[in-house]
Formats: sequence, C-alpha cells, structure tokens
Amino acid sequence: MRILASALLAAALAAPAQAALLAAAGKVDVTPDLETETVWLAGYGATGRKARGVHDRLHARALVVSDGKRTAAVVAVDVIGLYREDVERMRRELGWNGDKEYLFVSSTHQHSGPDTLGLWGRFPGVSGVDKKYHARLIRSVADLVRDLARRLEEAQIAAVRKDIDPRGLVRDLRDPVVLDPELDVVQVRAKKTGKTLGTLVRWSCHPETSRGDNMLVTADFPGQLCARVEEKTGGACVFQSGAIGGLLIPDSDHTPEKQFEEGERVGHALADAALAAVAGAPAAGGGVEWRTKLVRLPVENSIYLAFLPNLTFGHKVYGADGAELPRWKPYYLALRHLLLFPLPDRLRPWVETEVSVLRLGPAEFLGVPGELFPELAVGGYDGSRRYGYALTKPTNPAPPDLAAAPKGPYLRDKRRGKVSLIVGLANDELGYVIPGYDFKTTRSRTMTPHPPGGHYEETNSIGPSSTKLILDAFDELLAR
Ligand SMILES: [Zn+2]
Repeated sequence: MRILASALLAAALAAPAQAALLAAAGKVDVTPDLETETVWLAGYGATGRKARGVHDRLHARALVVSDGKRTAAVVAVDVIGLYREDVERMRRELGWNGDKEYLFVSSTHQHSGPDTLGLWGRFPGVSGVDKKYHARLIRSVADLVRDLARRLEEAQIAAVRKDIDPRGLVRDLRDPVVLDPELDVVQVRAKKTGKTLGTLVRWSCHPETSRGDNMLVTADFPGQLCARVEEKTGGACVFQSGAIGGLLIPDSDHTPEKQFEEGERVGHALADAALAAVAGAPAAGGGVEWRTKLVRLPVENSIYLAFLPNLTFGHKVYGADGAELPRWKPYYLALRHLLLFPLPDRLRPWVETEVSVLRLGPAEFLGVPGELFPELAVGGYDGSRRYGYALTKPTNPAPPDLAAAPKGPYLRDKRRGKVSLIVGLANDELGYVIPGYDFKTTRSRTMTPHPPGGHYEETNSIGPSSTKLILDAFDELLAR
C-alpha cells in the first residue's frame, strides 16, 4: 500500500503542471497591387483618397496555438477594419466552424490603406472596396493560418502586462482625458531552444501618424513596431489595437514632411518598450480555450440607418421580430428613414456581432467588436489616467458630466487572466463604443450639428444601447 502511495505521489509530482503547447507564427503580405486593384485610402472624411503609391507594405500576421485538443489563431490585419461576415468567410475557408478551432481576427485600424468597410469611395456613401482585393485579402488570411497550423512546434508562452508612461506616444482628443497606459506583450518561444517564434504587442492608440493629406499606402506605426520586433527577435510580430476610442491618437508631429518619421519614432519606442518588458519573463504552457457570445445590437445611428444596405455588406441584419431581413428590406428601411424621418422603433433593424474571451496558456484576450472608449476599459474619470493633461479642457464649452460617469469596476478590473488583453476591432468593426452618460447626438438625419463639447464619435457608433449590451456580454463570459 505504502509503495503504491509513493508511486502515485511520484507520478503526480512528475506530471507536468500545465499542458504542453504547440505554436507557430508568421505573416503574409496583403499590400494592394496599385496596377491591377483600385485603392481608395480609407479613413478621414466622407470620401476616399486615391492611392498614389506604397510607402510601406501591409501584412496579415498570425499566431497559431494548440494544446493538442483545441487550436486557436490570433490574426491582426493592417486594414482599417473587417466586418463579422469577413471573419466568418475566413472561418468557412478554413473549415474552422466547430468547437475544435477558433479564429480571432482584429484590424490594426491604420488609416492609409484600402477601404475594406465600404465607406470611403469616390463620393460620400459610395463604397471604395475593390472586390477582387477584398476576396484576395480573405483568402490570404485563411491560407496563412492553414499553413501555420501545419507547422506547429512545441512552445511555451510568456505574457507580461506593463503600464508605461504614455506621454510622447499618445494623447486624447475627447474629454475626459483618459489614456490607457497598458502595454501587453505575449511571446511564443520554442520549448527546446527558447527561440522566439512570435511576439504579440497590444497598445491603445489610433494608427494615425499619417494623416488625411497622405496619399501613400502605409501600415503606420504598427508596421514600424512589427518590423522592429521582427528584426530584433527573428520571429513574427502581431500588433493589436486596444481601447482606442474617444479618441486616442499619436502624440506626434502631423506635418506632411514629418509623418513617416514620426510613425517610425512611435513604432520603435513601443517595440523597444515591449521587448524590454518581455525579456527574461518566464514562459509557461497551459490550455487553449474560448467562449463567445453572439450579441444583437439595435441600429440606432441615423447615418447607419440611411446607409443600411452598406451595413448588410458585412452583417446579418434582423428585424425586431428576430427574423433575418430579406434582401430588399434594408433598402426600403433606409428610404423610409430618410423620407419619413425618423424610423419608428418597431421597424428598427438589429445586427449580429460577436463578443469573445480567448485563453492561450497564460494570456487571455477579450475581443471587443469595435472601438472601446478607454475610460470603459480603465476608468480614469477621477483624473488618475490624465498624465499631466487637464481632465477636461478649459476651452470645452460643454464638458462631460463626470458625476454621472460609471463608477466601476471597469473592464480592466473584471478580467481574470493574469495578463488579459482588451482587443479592439476584434472579429467585427461597429464603430465607437461610448459610455452611455456621455452619448449625445442631435436628432436629425445626419446627426449634425454635433452637440457642443466634441461629440463626433457618436456619428460613428451603432448607437447608445450597444455599450451596455457588449459590456454585459463580457460580464457573462467572464463569470463562467
Ligand atoms: Zn477609429
């Protein structure tokens, strides 16, 4: 008996504390071909800018991790955004629709690349999407993930979260001033050699060092960041945008002659900070698991209603009765909304999106289907995240009523993983996710004029109800 007991004890001690992991990382060039593909640069204003050349290449970068039972891929694409149906198409191409594989795709949200959302064509309201490019992009991502999933090797994951001083890197255009200081780094290392296979970096800032006067394709600072990490480590680098809403932009010199230099400065500074943070961090194994929730959000934004047929380009749209709308209905609803403004509540359409929590060993990813305001992620209404800036600008004619702001806990406080990354534009892009107390619009077809105090973001949000529905979904997923 005693011998058996000690044998069992020895076996228990010898058993690995965590499951072994298999991983691979890589990238694929997804730069549009300006000779054969039409490129309307997305971002800034209501129309696209015709691209005149390529400053630096666009990529899709991926990390594929398996625990032997389940496999997940984390992909970041250098585009302004991808809709839920784009991600579903990638999953279908891969045959990843069951409970054994999961594809998690986010966009870096750079603002000088091809229109992938159908919002920046030659004229306002006209899509700038080149269908041939769009199909190629989706196929390229699926091919990359499929290829990496065949080349998995034994690996361990190091994950670190570090709050850094964001000054000189990012600033906040909209009051209250809340900067997200969290730099997250997830590094996959070969188990035998310790060699870096891939490094993932997550930071909260719009990739907008290049502005609306730039006519060249560029991946902006995330491209520079990844190039630096890849050069220093020899492995692939994946960049995820965090809570970038309301409105975090680079603290950089925007003059045309400085833009690219500044993109390099910001990208390299973040790359160096990320590599310093993860250097020497212990690596571990663990399981791969995920939970997702499909959430239906009402389309309340008057502009989204006017362009409802465009929204069906990337989403399934439902009626108030829960049935999917027939193809003609979005055209009818848009017309009715414009002519007999506003559309009555009983005709309000709903779109389906996905909220997700993914664990890869010691790292957890919270997938937000849009641009979360940083204050919903980290709080900061008390001035604790203003980094020397005034919490509300003295020039603001109608500052937000901070007494009505949510008291917390905020999403950052609810996370359970030791290193838990709040990832924006994940598996969908529905625009800004705005705290309800500060959601202010003018009740007109175009939602203009903007109420005083800077409420531009409301015109690029699906509506005020979406914030609570998305945050409630996280409560549910994290509680399980
Ligand atoms: Zn944005």
